[in-house]
Amino acid sequence: MPTPRLDPPPALPLAAVVNATGVVLHPKLGRAPLSAAARQAVLDASGYTTLEIDPATGRHQSRTSGPGRLAAEVLGAPAATVVNNGAAALLLTLHALATGREVVISRGELVEIGRSYRLPDLIATTPARLVEVGTANHTRLEDYRHATHAGTGLLLTVHRPDRHPGGNETTLAALAELAAELGVPLVHHLGSGLPHRMPAALPDEPSVAGSLAAGADLVLVSGDKLLGGPQAGIIAGRADLVAGCERHALARALRIDKLQRAALEATLWSWAQAELPADLPVVAMLDADPVTLHQRAVWMAEQIGRDARAVRSSARVGGSLLSAVSLPSWAVGVPSHDPPRLAAALLAGEPPILARADTDQLRLDVRTIPPSRDVEVVEVVRALSAG
Ligand SMILES: *Cc1c(COP(=O)(O)O)cnc(C)c1O
Repeated sequence: MPTPRLDPPPALPLAAVVNATGVVLHPKLGRAPLSAAARQAVLDASGYTTLEIDPATGRHQSRTSGPGRLAAEVLGAPAATVVNNGAAALLLTLHALATGREVVISRGELVEIGRSYRLPDLIATTPARLVEVGTANHTRLEDYRHATHAGTGLLLTVHRPDRHPGGNETTLAALAELAAELGVPLVHHLGSGLPHRMPAALPDEPSVAGSLAAGADLVLVSGDKLLGGPQAGIIAGRADLVAGCERHALARALRIDKLQRAALEATLWSWAQAELPADLPVVAMLDADPVTLHQRAVWMAEQIGRDARAVRSSARVGGSLLSAVSLPSWAVGVPSHDPPRLAAALLAGEPPILARADTDQLRLDVRTIPPSRDVEVVEVVRALSAG
């Protein structure tokens, strides 16, 4: 037996957490929890796989062609390819389609998406030149017209679910017309990646197909936002542009690995089989019925005792820009003299539970707690709040 050289270990390894924050796509907790089918697919792909071999012919096959075709089919796009994440999708698109040329974007869309990702900083690392148009709160079509000329490489527009006041006053259709006049692509950085509209929880969130129908040539989305899959980036749209991205040398550095691919394909299959696939935890949580959430909160509060009660809460979609979108929800409020201390004890417990500390209570939003964990959460909270 080799003696362990690191005692204690320099950091704790990844551990599973119960999310009681009500933030569905929690960035610190790894955004979308995977479906049972996606988890099984990851397990199956853990050994040797058909990652780059066509089992029918034994010949080499690109690792992205399978998931690319499936993504195109499910998202309603002529073609698609997949990369490591949303930021990689933008990076590859700019390298492949705008090297040495200008990328025109509204000043109101030069956003920060999570602490380590500022759009202008990422664009500055590419061989494309950033051209800002309009102002922080107003951008009109004339602004784009004045800034575009023969050196323009592409028009980039970023979806802002946070409904920033003012923002971009143009429409995708108007930008598409301008892009067509200039003979350059219109790229829509959509982020969320809904295959269809999600009627109940997010009535205004556009779908990929909707964006393409409105005139975008390419749509860029993340696999782990509303699509409900693993970290991944999808570039969907015109076949010639997608092929250009796939051929670029940088594609190799930004490619997905077999575990991501397995989970992404399983997630896309769920969307292929149902209009709103409830087997995807993200869909189930966003679509959860407030009456059921209330019943669960009441039951859990009764089981915990100690004056715990069901309280109204406000859940959030999460996932950076979507974070501004909130959903009415229900939580278990556990009165406490020191809510931050109780919250810290819960997070250090087994299993770790992340909850919110209000001024006078600990709040566990049931929207993001899997119903199958309710009993376990009750037991842990009851034991810890005893003191
Ligand atoms: C989420 C998001 C990104 C970043 O995507 P990652 O998958 O986190 O790399 C970029 N742009 C927009 C508009 C987004 O919503």
